[in-house]
Amino acid sequence: MGETQALFAALRQATDAAVAAAIDRHVKEAPDRELSRINILDFAARYRLDEERVIGAFLHAARLGLFELSWNVLCPGCGGVLDSNATLKSVNREEYACALCAAGYEPTLDEMVEVAFTVNPRIRRIAAHDPETLAFSEYMRQTFWSSGIELPDGSAYVRLLDEIVLDAVELPPGEKAILSLQLPNQFCILFDPVTHSAQFLDVNGAATRERQNLTVVFNKLRPPTGKVTMRPGPLRVTLDNRTDLRVLPAIWIAGSALHDLLGKRKKFLTAKRLLTNQTFRDIYRTDTLDVDQRLKITSLTFLFTDLKGSTELYERVGDLVAYDMVREHFRVLHQVVASHAGAVVKTIGDAVMATFATPDQAIAAALEMRDAMPNLHARARHEDLVLKIGVHEGPCLAVMVNDRLDYFGQTVNIAARVQGLAVSRSIFATKAVIDNEQAAGLLDAAGLTPMPQQALLRGVVDRYTVYEIP
Ligand SMILES: [Zn+2]
Repeated sequence: MGETQALFAALRQATDAAVAAAIDRHVKEAPDRELSRINILDFAARYRLDEERVIGAFLHAARLGLFELSWNVLCPGCGGVLDSNATLKSVNREEYACALCAAGYEPTLDEMVEVAFTVNPRIRRIAAHDPETLAFSEYMRQTFWSSGIELPDGSAYVRLLDEIVLDAVELPPGEKAILSLQLPNQFCILFDPVTHSAQFLDVNGAATRERQNLTVVFNKLRPPTGKVTMRPGPLRVTLDNRTDLRVLPAIWIAGSALHDLLGKRKKFLTAKRLLTNQTFRDIYRTDTLDVDQRLKITSLTFLFTDLKGSTELYERVGDLVAYDMVREHFRVLHQVVASHAGAVVKTIGDAVMATFATPDQAIAAALEMRDAMPNLHARARHEDLVLKIGVHEGPCLAVMVNDRLDYFGQTVNIAARVQGLAVSRSIFATKAVIDNEQAAGLLDAAGLTPMPQQALLRGVVDRYTVYEIP
């Protein structure tokens, strides 16, 4: 058996067999460009596979060396990749600038960092492994844009670029080129995706027959974004590549066709979603962030649970029986959290802290946990235990604590305090959770009406509106 076949055999052992088979087939049969920065949510839809299973399988495949995983910082404006990293550890700048959009952005893990998978060159060599060999249109598709831009296929894509791009040139290191073109009466951008540099051409006024000139030098220091005013008419552009990379300058018409192209987005795997995936936490355990790194998440949902009555239980049935029951409860909670696309961050005594990408996932998990408790009691022939559950959503920081990916911030404190309000099987949740449309829909469908009340959250805030879900 060859190395590749052995790795696929190992993948089938480690993960869902149907997904492993689809990945195997894709790697063998798909064209090169479909193996570069694979959008694995797209992959799931195309092969009609469950998203969570697909995420789990690709993580195992990356761990085995079938794929290279990249954490790409995206420009929210144009969907371009501003920085591509093999680990989240190097997403460490305060701000990322996009020359095309002339804007800077503070990175957050919600929508600004994508996780994409590219086939490992040892498994299959594809054109994107040598990006300097990609022609302009494929460079834009495979290297510049993120997997969240919905680009047309084949000839429709080429036609669209023809419409938007006035002229493009491939300029090897150290070479010069001259472009002669007619400027339309529209705002244009001379943009190079390799050095990520942009020169804005503000074209307006009366058309001229006199030739206008523009010189653009690409050097190692990224040229500043500039703007020149021009008139519609003939333009001669001198391009001078003083870098050691091939550059791909093109003149783009910044009109409605470009805006439409950049506006067509699709779902992609975000860093936030991956961090709250149980498989990711299990197999990338200690290797996610640097100790002094802190990354912002705009919205994460926290679910805390605690077992009421466990101390009395230890007293009454003895350590051994109680331990088994408590352990069984952890097993069930882990299973429920994972089945709702969440991850258990840690357990503290008999308490569990879990995260979810969205409030509705946490609410669905909370309801299922609560329903699972009587089953647990029936099996253990005891009814001593009550699961106290609290849910809250808000911004936080992803950090490493004791070699573990953890979260920090007031949202976490509030979530823990809200859990502390629960005394019975009622679930407590905050307004941020109840106001979430999908979460409200779930409660409504379950015939549950959350009742608001004012609460004191010890050490955090005096009066806080919380909801009791009966
Ligand atoms: Zn941009």
